[in-house]
Amino acid sequence: MTDCRKTDCQSIAAAVNAGASATVEVEAALARAEADSTNAIIRVYRDTALAAAKAVDARIAAGEQLPLAGVPVVLKDNMCYQDHPVTACSKILAGFTAPYQATAVTKLRDAGAVVIAAANMDEFAMGSSNETSCYGPVSNPVASDRIPGGSSGGSAASVAGGITPLALGSDTGGSIRQPASLCGCLGLKPTYGCVSRYGLLAFGSSLDQIGPFTTTVEDAALVLSVLAGHDKADSTSANRPAPKPGVADQGLAGKRVGWVPAHVEGLQSDVAEALERAKAKAVEAGAELVEISLPHEKYAVAVYYVVATGEASSNLSRYDGVHYGHRTEGAKDLDQVYSRSREEGFGAEVKRRIMLGTYVLSAGYYDAYYKKAMQVRSLICKDFATCFEQCDVILGPTSPTTAFKRGEKTSDPLQMYLSDVFTIAANLAGIPALSVPMGTDSQGLPIGLHLQAPQFADEALLAAAKALMA
Ligand code: GLN
Repeated sequence: MTDCRKTDCQSIAAAVNAGASATVEVEAALARAEADSTNAIIRVYRDTALAAAKAVDARIAAGEQLPLAGVPVVLKDNMCYQDHPVTACSKILAGFTAPYQATAVTKLRDAGAVVIAAANMDEFAMGSSNETSCYGPVSNPVASDRIPGGSSGGSAASVAGGITPLALGSDTGGSIRQPASLCGCLGLKPTYGCVSRYGLLAFGSSLDQIGPFTTTVEDAALVLSVLAGHDKADSTSANRPAPKPGVADQGLAGKRVGWVPAHVEGLQSDVAEALERAKAKAVEAGAELVEISLPHEKYAVAVYYVVATGEASSNLSRYDGVHYGHRTEGAKDLDQVYSRSREEGFGAEVKRRIMLGTYVLSAGYYDAYYKKAMQVRSLICKDFATCFEQCDVILGPTSPTTAFKRGEKTSDPLQMYLSDVFTIAANLAGIPALSVPMGTDSQGLPIGLHLQAPQFADEALLAAAKALMA
């Protein structure tokens, strides 16, 4: 069986556009997905994938050239793929079939990519370790007793583990970048509004963004160029030209790379060393290092767990056994239908978030929590605006540690929440950010570094990443 780490989206598309068979490519990916030992893949779509591959072969034979011709892709299980199941890895959506399709999925398919499977994730994208899924945990492809990160753990493990060269994830507070970092691939959260969220099962609507996991920067740019653009079905999608498919060379020459001294405090030493290496590499690539500070970043996790839970409590109210989702049997009245359906369908972490979210939004507490959080959110946005007057990109760690052991943080939600201490601020500010692989720690576990850029500077962000990975 061929391992797709030897290849990438660009090479597959070039070969298929030149006459190689998409069906053969997809067949090989299906075999890898079916042999997956990490529990990254929860559902393989053999029949529809082969039919879609055949359709791509027919389009090429008819003279079309497609940017992602024959590229096998897995979707995080919170994106609607019409006529296929979608559950957000929650019991509450067991048996639900998507009646329509996410715009991101349509765009990938139009570009020639073939959806082969659904990827495991934390229930409703709430988690940092992929341990809250109703399908069970995912193993890190590098070390089977360790977590892959979350919430898009299955997507990251699929790409880093060589099942597919491309996976889609969603990122509300770090769920693309943190698992990319812990598994050893590239994960991009585009600017808020760059990619339509139509058909994404909503978690925190002012924070959610869809983005790709890839093995190369060029692939991330190519996929972003396919996914980006205005969608009249998503009023938050920006009406501006999509980023170009290529990545500029010398992306750091003459650029100012900001770094935050406070980010180094408490870092695992191997991660701190990788950051130092990257800073040296940036200088070699012609960049100037600038010390910056984000004074309100220390409140980002607290702000996020007010804003995201508030939004989640509202978004998840539709799963009530009547509109959507599992319905309890034998309820005596409507109140029991709601309460028992939700009691039976949701897992513990989702319930914790709903409780917290309804509390912070409730009359009497709204001003003290939600309103205050939104005020601090504005200060965080202002911090970034000030920093981006002094630098072009910000370089830092993606995660304070490399992949931890399964079960290590499950009993301590606060420790789990701190896994995203470096990634959350980008969602609060709506700026683009990515994680690039930057070597391994002393145990061979992948390390990822985090790059952030101003809103809609996604292309410059990718160019900087390319220079760092060169
Ligand atoms: N880990 C964070 C959380 O648990 C972020 C999740 C995400 O980005 N979807 O909420």
